This record gives sequence, structure tokens and C-alpha cells, in this order.
Amino acid sequence: MSMKLAARVAQVTPSMTLAIDTKAKAMKREGIDVISFSVGEPDFDTPAHIRTAAEIALEQGKTRYGAAAGEPKLREAIAQKLQRDNGLCYGADNVLVTNGGKHSLFNLMLALIEPGDEVIIPAPFWVSYPEMVKLAGGTPVIVPTTLESGYKITPEQLRQAVTPKTKLFVFNSPSNPTGMVYTPDEVRALAQVVVEQNLLVVSDEIYEKLLYDQAEHLSIGAVNPDIFERTIVSSGFAKTYAMTGWRVGFLAGPLPLIQAATKIQGHSTSNVCTFAQYGAVAAYEAPQDCVQQMLQAFSERRQIILEFINAIPGFNCPKPDGAFYVFPNIAQLGISSIDFCNGLLETQQVAAIPGIAFGADDCVRFSYATDVESIRRGMERLTTYVKSLA
Ligand SMILES: *Cc1c(COP(=O)(O)O)cnc(C)c1O
Repeated sequence: MSMKLAARVAQVTPSMTLAIDTKAKAMKREGIDVISFSVGEPDFDTPAHIRTAAEIALEQGKTRYGAAAGEPKLREAIAQKLQRDNGLCYGADNVLVTNGGKHSLFNLMLALIEPGDEVIIPAPFWVSYPEMVKLAGGTPVIVPTTLESGYKITPEQLRQAVTPKTKLFVFNSPSNPTGMVYTPDEVRALAQVVVEQNLLVVSDEIYEKLLYDQAEHLSIGAVNPDIFERTIVSSGFAKTYAMTGWRVGFLAGPLPLIQAATKIQGHSTSNVCTFAQYGAVAAYEAPQDCVQQMLQAFSERRQIILEFINAIPGFNCPKPDGAFYVFPNIAQLGISSIDFCNGLLETQQVAAIPGIAFGADDCVRFSYATDVESIRRGMERLTTYVKSLA
């Protein structure tokens, strides 16, 4: 029997980050000493007090269906966090608890985007943005940025990409894959274009706490009341609290939009795992020392990986000041990002993600969310590999 699948499936590109990862894991299973810079997740355990809070919730019987929009306690804790840390005046009603940040963006696209709607996405972009827009029936409008601009979209580029069909601008700072952080002035300038062009913006702030050197995070919605009305925030606990497997994230924004997204979630996943939500409450309500400790570790690793990366001839890497990625440009080597990564994995057993997955074929992404020893060994192998290409 030949089964005719829905046309939307053919429009979606499978996740390339997963393909390399699968190959690397298969090699590892065969006993090969693979060093992986491919995974975009912290290598730390979830902090103990967060695990304990979830265990207590489990013991207390928080094991049943809950409200689709999330446990009231967590929605309140998120609203307070957004007020306290981000200067965003949301109440608990403005918050939808989702199965991770990815799911919050998916709910948003389904609630907002219709066939014909255009969504502006600066490249390099996080792999799922364009695919989610397509699944919602919309049209992703990719705006390539340059090495010279530090892979940041300029206000002029944003303005030029707007058409009468543009509905939404997808903004991600700190960025996955580039690690770049927009300065407060850059954020303000983009906010002005969003308001002037009558757009909406979704701000993916999942890496907001992972900042280095003097980098500062400004939530675009906090710039002024006009942009606040046009902003939807997407974030989650995965990256800041090493909670990738817990699947807790959130969407915050204007009430009608949150209600619409809640309606969609109510017919798809319903509530997020109830006891996991209590772990998330503890993550926000307890002192933030665990975040500082992980940040310190990331910061040391970043110094080490940058020293190696900057010394590699043919690599050109603007200094990333957020998240846990470096994204060198390899254009000078005259090789596609896929060929580069395949060769690196096959000859040196080092896994990295080809930039083409993020809409930038002249770049490669290395995640430094791994131990220092592996970083050193992996970077030595990378150096050998690049020399062999010359
Ligand atoms: C990891 C990530 C997310 C969401 O991750 P979840 O595990 O679904 O919470 C969203 N946006 C970016 C840019 C990410 O890197």
C-alpha cells in the first residue's frame, strides 16, 4: 500500500543537527573515541534543589492532569521573573507553560500565522524557526547577515525585508548558532523598526543568562510601551538550569494571543508534566548560585576554545559573547560546511554541525558545553584537520 502523506511533511527539512549527532553516536557505540561539539545542551546535571522540588511534588501526588496553561504557581513565578529580571509587566494570565521553548514557538506560530503571512528570520538562524513557520502555512523570509556585522541583522535590513504580508519578526539574542548578543542600542534600533512597520516580534530569550565579558541582555519588549504590545517572549529552563530533558518552557505576551495558544495546547499536549513544573518553580524561586557556577564553567571553556579557534588559519570567528557556541566562518578554506564536517568526523572523529543547517554554508558550529579536557583534545584534532586541507 502506498500511503499519501500530508503535503506539509514534504515542505519540512529534517533536522540536520540530529543526523550528524546520530552518526557520531553510532561511531561511539562501535568503540571509536569520538569528541563531540555537536550537542546544544549543558553537560551538567540539573541542580539538586530543582530535582528535590520535583521529587517532593511527585511524593505529594502532583501526578494528575493540571490546567492546560500550567500550574498557577509556575505561571506566577514566571510572571514575577519577567518583571524582576526583564522589566516586562506581565501577570500570570499572560504566561503559557509549554513543553520546552521549542513547543512555545510552535504554539505561537500555529496561533498567529496563516497561509500568505511572511515571517522575517535573520540567518544564521536556529534550525526550527523556518520549519515551524512552514508547518503553520506561512512563508519564512530569510535575511542573510554578514560576518562584518557580527551576524546581526541591521535595522535597515529589517526594514527592507518588510512587505505588506509581513506579520512577525523572529529575534534571538543571545543567538544559537552564532553566540552573538545584540547590544541594548541595537535592540532599541530594531524595536523602532518593528513599531514603525507595524509588525509583531517574537523574542527567543532562552540564552539570556549565558553572557560573558561585558555583554548585556535587553528584552526587546522592555524598550517602550509600543514595542511591549507587539512582543511575544519565548523562553524556557533547559539551557539556564541544565533541564533539557524536563521539557518546561513558556510563552508570554498579550492576553488574546496567550489564550489562543492555550486553546491550541489544550487540544494537543495539554499540560506540561505536572511535577516537572514544580522543579521549574524551584529554579526561579531559589537563589541563582547554580546559574553562576555553570556560567563560570562555560566562561572558562569559552576562553580555551576561542584560543584554539582564533589560531586556526582560514578560520574567521567574531567573538561570541553569549550562549555556548562558537561559529567560525570557513569561507577561506573553499569547502562546503557539510564536506568540512563529514571530513572532520571521518578523519579525526570530531563532531560539529555544518552551518548550512542554520542557513550559513560558510560556517561551522562548535558547542563548548563539554568538559575542558575534551575541548583541548578535540581542538587539537580540529587544528590537524584544517592543516590537512591546505
Ligand atoms: C534550545 C533552544 C530552544 C528551546 O529548547 P527547549 O529544549 O525546547 O526548551 C529554543 N530556541 C533556541 C535558540 C534554542 O537553542
